[in-house]
Amino acid sequence: MSRSALAEKHPWTLPWWKADSDNFWTMIYIVMIHVMAVVGLVLFPLPGWSVFLAALAVACLGGLGTTVGYHRALAHRAVKLNPVVEQILVFFAVFNGSGAPSTWIANHRNHHANSDTIDDVSSPRHGGFWWAHLRWVYQWEASSMQKWCPDMMHRRYTLWASLQMPLIAISLCFGYLFFGWAGLFWLGAIRLVYCLHGQMFVNSLLHLKPGLPEGVDSSQNIWWIGPFQVTAWGENWHGNHHSRPASACFSRHWWQIDIGWYVICGLRALGLATNVRP
Ligand SMILES: [Zn+2]
Ligand SMILES: [Zn+2]
Repeated sequence: MSRSALAEKHPWTLPWWKADSDNFWTMIYIVMIHVMAVVGLVLFPLPGWSVFLAALAVACLGGLGTTVGYHRALAHRAVKLNPVVEQILVFFAVFNGSGAPSTWIANHRNHHANSDTIDDVSSPRHGGFWWAHLRWVYQWEASSMQKWCPDMMHRRYTLWASLQMPLIAISLCFGYLFFGWAGLFWLGAIRLVYCLHGQMFVNSLLHLKPGLPEGVDSSQNIWWIGPFQVTAWGENWHGNHHSRPASACFSRHWWQIDIGWYVICGLRALGLATNVRP
C-alpha cells in the first residue's frame, strides 16, 4: 500500500501535526487553548475562589450540554427534551468546546456502529492512546451528516456550525469582563482544556483495553473519571452505556453516580422531558 493510501485508511500513521483538510482549524484551536492554559496557570496559579467557582459553574453547564443534550437526547434519542431546554443545552455544549451538534452526533453514531473495528473513529486499539484521546478529532475525516444524522439536518441544529467560531472566541475571552486577566484565562482556556480532556477520556481510557481481538467490545467503567468530569459524571460508566446505548440512564447500581440521569428525571418531573428510555 502506498504511503498516501495507507494514511487514508489508517490516519493514525500520519505525524500528529498533519490535520485533515477540513479539520485544520480544530487542530489550531486545540494547540492554542493549551498554550493559553499554560500561560494562564503560570501567571495566575491561584485565581481566588470567585474566579474558580465561576469557571467551574460554566464547565458544569457545558458538561450537562454534552451528556444530556448531545449524547442522550440527540445522538441516542433516549429522551425527548423541550425544544427550549434542548437549545439551551446545545448552546452550553458549543460554548464549552464540544463542537457543533451535527458534527458531534455524526461522529458519535459512527463510533457506536463501528466501535472496536478498524473503522472506529477513535479506537485506541489501532491508533493508541493519543490517537483516541485527541488526534482523531482533527486527523479523522469528518463523519458524513447525510449518512449518520439526517435527522439533524434542520436549521435549528445546523446554524450552530456557523455560530461555533464566534461563540468560541467569546468563550475564550468573556471571563475578562467579569474578573480581569485571571478570569480571562480561568473561565477561558483553562476551563476549555480541562473539559476537553474530561470528555476525551471517554474515547481513550474508557476504551483502553490492550490485547483484545478486533471487534471485541473494549468499553469499560472507570469510577475515578466521574468526579473529574463534573456534571458529565455518568459518562464514566461507558461500559454500561455500550451494553445498552438506547437507555438514557448510564448507571446500573445505586452507587454509580449519574448526574445526567438525575437531571433528566428532574426535567421529566417538570414536564420538560418526555419519552425517557430508562
Ligand atoms: Zn464508546
Ligand atoms: Zn453513546
